[in-house]
Amino acid sequence: MQIKTLIKYLEELAPPFLALEGDPTGLQLGSLKQEAANVVVALDFNREVMDEAIEQKANLVVTHHPFIFRPLKAVEPDSPTGSLICDAIKRDLTVYSLHTNLDVAEEGVSRRLADLLALNNQKVLKPTFTQSLFKIVVFVPLGYEDRVRNALAEAGAGWIGDYSHCTFNLEGKGTFKPLEGSNPFIGQQGKIEKVSEIRIETIVSEENLNKAISKMIKAHPYDEAAYDVYPLKNKGKIMGLGIIGDLPTEKSLAELGEEIKELLGVDGLKIAGFREKTIKKVAVCGGSGGRLIEKAVSEGADLFITGDIGYHQFQQGADLNIALMDPGHDATERVVVPFLADYLRERIKKGGHTHQIFISRVETSPWKLL
Ligand SMILES: [Zn+2]
Repeated sequence: MQIKTLIKYLEELAPPFLALEGDPTGLQLGSLKQEAANVVVALDFNREVMDEAIEQKANLVVTHHPFIFRPLKAVEPDSPTGSLICDAIKRDLTVYSLHTNLDVAEEGVSRRLADLLALNNQKVLKPTFTQSLFKIVVFVPLGYEDRVRNALAEAGAGWIGDYSHCTFNLEGKGTFKPLEGSNPFIGQQGKIEKVSEIRIETIVSEENLNKAISKMIKAHPYDEAAYDVYPLKNKGKIMGLGIIGDLPTEKSLAELGEEIKELLGVDGLKIAGFREKTIKKVAVCGGSGGRLIEKAVSEGADLFITGDIGYHQFQQGADLNIALMDPGHDATERVVVPFLADYLRERIKKGGHTHQIFISRVETSPWKLL
């Protein structure tokens, strides 16, 4: 298995088109064509993580943060970043980042935080992407409908909520006259045919549309499959930054703070608001979500949990009467690392491979509480 197969799995979880503008998500260095060895998953890539990867016989490091963030003007072995890049290349390492696409993805960073708090009625705090939906209608000769329907379902068409293979099927008469140069599956050249056909219609998201059409054409017995694609006004999944939801039971701010310290494994966190304030509706955003304070207020949150809240953002929270909690940038994001490792393990197992996935043990936070 080449590394690109592992990347394909990761991009199914966090498609690159979900990334926010200007984010250098994706391949950081190395080759996707290289045969995959073991994998290390980490929040950041640095020299210690590189050494760890070598020790674990890994040649792919998957991180959340891209370590080449701004365009480099030159790769100088005498600079810290340059020497790390040169050494990683000499060791045949590939580094791949899932950054804001993983923040926005349905099962991304904030979802992990929301699930950790067991929030009910979860919804996206600030939508950045709404899935476009299409209808595919295809006409299939009687007896071939299962084959075509299954091909569509395997390509992701006809998935609605917790249901797959959702189609509507109607029998009718199709007509056609094979012309010169045709290779008809049914009928003869120059003669109009009337054939019993099934009209299969199903729904598909824009990202699966091309795949569904090509699988459908492959499974269709005719040399020219007749099909239509209609854009729909139905709204697909909404994805974006942060999640808002309800705690299973109300708690005081101080009580919840103690619980979150335990859940996130931090020794301390910053809070703003009355310690006895009753908290029911909570908004969360992994990383630096301070810019979403107003959004959390407008959605009715009693508390907003995120990292990197600045002094003036804490003041803004007090003005807007919302409690704030900052456990740290990395503490709100590292919940995604074991999730990513488990996801890859599952996908690799399904593919019948035996590569090992390690969670980095390196503490990459650039600061600590004294
Ligand atoms: Zn981050």
